[in-house]
Amino acid sequence: MKIGFIGLGIMGKPMAKNLLKAGYDLIVADKFAPAAVEEVAACGATAGASNMDVGAQSDIVITMVPNSPEVKEALFGEDGAAKTMKKGTVVLDCSSINPIASREIAAELEKLGVEMLDAPVSGGEPKAIDGTLAFMVGGKQEIFDRCKDILGSMGSSVVRCGDIGAGNVTKLCNQIIVAVNIAGLAEAMQMGQMCGVEPQKIFDAIKGGLAGSTVMNAKAPMMMDQNFKPGFRINLHIKDLNNVVDAAKTVDAPIPLTQSVLEMMKILHRDGDGACDHSALLKYYQKLTGEVLHH
Ligand code: NAD
Repeated sequence: MKIGFIGLGIMGKPMAKNLLKAGYDLIVADKFAPAAVEEVAACGATAGASNMDVGAQSDIVITMVPNSPEVKEALFGEDGAAKTMKKGTVVLDCSSINPIASREIAAELEKLGVEMLDAPVSGGEPKAIDGTLAFMVGGKQEIFDRCKDILGSMGSSVVRCGDIGAGNVTKLCNQIIVAVNIAGLAEAMQMGQMCGVEPQKIFDAIKGGLAGSTVMNAKAPMMMDQNFKPGFRINLHIKDLNNVVDAAKTVDAPIPLTQSVLEMMKILHRDGDGACDHSALLKYYQKLTGEVLHH
């Protein structure tokens, strides 16, 4: 069995390396990142000449690109991998995209006799590197059962959430919770400091209680250090929250908290902070108050 991997960015490159470590036969492509292709090829993968080359040579094709336009381009564009896939190929799209787009893409692939799972991840670059990502998967049970071990070689949790699109619905839920959590943390730390309590004391005192969270442990130290190196960029989170807005619209789901944090992120993007880690939501409060959070 040969696995194809398209998109060797921050996430895709370490994920591809973990597939190699698990012993899979891999062919990779990323037309915008030739250095990443060379790096993964040096670890034992075949360097695909193009997405079409990957499609032709693979039984399973993993895509890990930014958003739905790029997934569509990688599969159906001029150099689209789906053009050369044989019947029975399975596409595992690990990109975080709109669940409506996942269903559209799966329907197009079905016409070619190609199956698909949407399998976005949570965990970020460190967990992509150590192979402990959490996969949220949508698609047929039978296809999931066939592909679970492949995903398991890149992650420590692989959960089927329902039919096609369910993985990306779950990922959007994840992104709402993370965004609102970071904004709440920034708001609280800023308010606490302005009321005269040291942010480090606030963090130490509450991290073990109900307010404590993985988000707090990861992002509070970054905020106090004014370290906004990504991690996960504001611009990518804006993409995800825009997908929340689109998905919520189709079912009339109320999302006032998402809308508020999205506005804050858009302001940061306009101010040139889009490439910062999403912990830079703190900057929104710092700009309003003129006060910088410290240790
Ligand atoms: P990235 O921008 O670092 O990498 C994307 C890669 O896709 C790039 O190397 C790009 O050249 C390639 N690409 C784009 N279009 C292509 C095409 N048509 N053919 C071949 N290659 C193409 O992005 P990333 O951070 O690796 O994120 C990928 C996905 O994972 C996104 O949907 C993101 O939201 C999601 N995600 C990212 C993180 C994170 O912390 N970075 C965490 C969880 C999920």
